[in-house]
Amino acid sequence: MSHSESNCLCGAVKITVQQINPKFTVCHCQTCRTWGGAPFFAVKCGTKVSIEGNKKVKMYESSSWASRGFCTECGTHLFYKFKESGEYNMPVGLFPNLKGLEMDMQYFSDMRPSYYCFSNETKEMTTAEIMAYFASAM
Ligand SMILES: [Zn+2]
Ligand SMILES: [Zn+2]
Repeated sequence: MSHSESNCLCGAVKITVQQINPKFTVCHCQTCRTWGGAPFFAVKCGTKVSIEGNKKVKMYESSSWASRGFCTECGTHLFYKFKESGEYNMPVGLFPNLKGLEMDMQYFSDMRPSYYCFSNETKEMTTAEIMAYFASAM
């Protein structure tokens, strides 16, 4: 866990995160791939997040449980935020100096298209496993 700062491409939005888990996750779902053009590589940032330049942050509700935020000036993807818990997941690329980065989990592994694959050894969850997990957690 380490404290980190980042900003969007244009600098209008600055983000400070108190604790980041360097074991990042990859999401292959179609929503993530539509949003970013590729799988979403995310670090878990919890709720101790401060954002400067909020008026340049637009949030899009991409599902009933979470929203995605981006800079209205330069389009940089800033976060995926869970409504219920207020926890943030942020693109790993925002924090290039994080120590100990390691691909830990691939979500929606059954949605991964055939035109890429990673050689990293990771945990995986399929759509059915994720649905079952959330059904039991809620
Ligand atoms: Zn920006
Ligand atoms: Zn996704």
